[in-house]
Amino acid sequence: MKVKNIVLLGCGGFIGSHLLDRLLADGGYNVVGWDFSADKIAGHLDNPKFRFYQSDAFSEGTAADLDNAVKHSDVVISLAAICNPSRYNTEAIATINSNFTEVQKLAEVCAKYKTWMIHASTCEVYGRTMASYLPDNSYDNPALYEQIEDETPLIMGPIQNQRWSYACAKQLSERLLHAYHVEQHMPITMFRPYNFFGPRMDFIPGRTGDGVPRVLACFVTALLDGTPMKLVDGGHARRALLYIDDAVDALERMLQMPQAAQNQTFNLGARQNEISIRDLAVMMRNAYADVSGNPAYRSHPIIEVSGLDFYGKGYEDCDRRVPNVAKARRLLGWEAKYGLEETINYTVRYFYDEFGRESAAAE
Ligand code: UDP
Repeated sequence: MKVKNIVLLGCGGFIGSHLLDRLLADGGYNVVGWDFSADKIAGHLDNPKFRFYQSDAFSEGTAADLDNAVKHSDVVISLAAICNPSRYNTEAIATINSNFTEVQKLAEVCAKYKTWMIHASTCEVYGRTMASYLPDNSYDNPALYEQIEDETPLIMGPIQNQRWSYACAKQLSERLLHAYHVEQHMPITMFRPYNFFGPRMDFIPGRTGDGVPRVLACFVTALLDGTPMKLVDGGHARRALLYIDDAVDALERMLQMPQAAQNQTFNLGARQNEISIRDLAVMMRNAYADVSGNPAYRSHPIIEVSGLDFYGKGYEDCDRRVPNVAKARRLLGWEAKYGLEETINYTVRYFYDEFGRESAAAE
């Protein structure tokens, strides 16, 4: 099968907008997309190879359009989701609906036409590492923290810790899609993003949205506004960052190699880009100093706050996420090319150009 016609749910989001750039630049694909917002894809709205619905793909009014688009597509890529930790414990019902109920609705349509569904899951399905539950843990045994798609157990905290509403909904979606594959022969691919990082990620509170965004946008906002960067619970948690271009490369390879990609779950991450949140804050303020030409940012204030104060009741953190990407390497010939410095520098440069340059000029 050669993929030509694509349905892309969440085409206006962070991952979706970058994937759309790539698909339309290639010229060989026709894309039908849904999203609430067109802000990140305004440059594509007149492209004849792109048909855009600015609406909820799952409202009653759009059911016929979605059904028709899926019927005529080679693959459906499902990226639309609430994926912001500040909402998992405060809006758990919406989080579960967006990450499970709506996926179920989409899966039903795909199953009807046996259309290949590529679904964005999350590395958060692994929950916390086994190592984090052991006394005197020092992470010295990779078997207790490295995450392997078809082997590693998925470990989540108690129900009252609603942080896990997202991971649990994503896990159930994965189980449902797997069942559709096994029982109804629907082709599926699931991928688990590890902290994708890059331009256009998330929103900047007070400028392009409201609420508490992911850590990248929180730190950028602090630098833009001259407020302290906040380390939740000491900033000891570690994350492995993956530059968005690397992530899009992996998705493009799936589309080019359906045989290799179908009926697999892939970790998409870069373990070599692992960093503690504390070190991330330091690297980001240094990158901001470089790009703005203002060395004072090197000592931009960093303070500590508790998870309870920052996120509210029910927050619990993933301690560490170390991806094993042997499967993506073997089947797709993929691995990350961008290192940590490039990932952080390119991203910070984008946000400075977009928002910081103007504020600096105004001052
Ligand atoms: N975090 C932080 N300061 C912030 C925002 C987040 O220290 O202003 C921490 C958060 O507690 C977590 C990590 O940064 O340990 C990554 O947070 P992110 O929002 O990117 O979501 P996650 O990776 O947990 O899905």
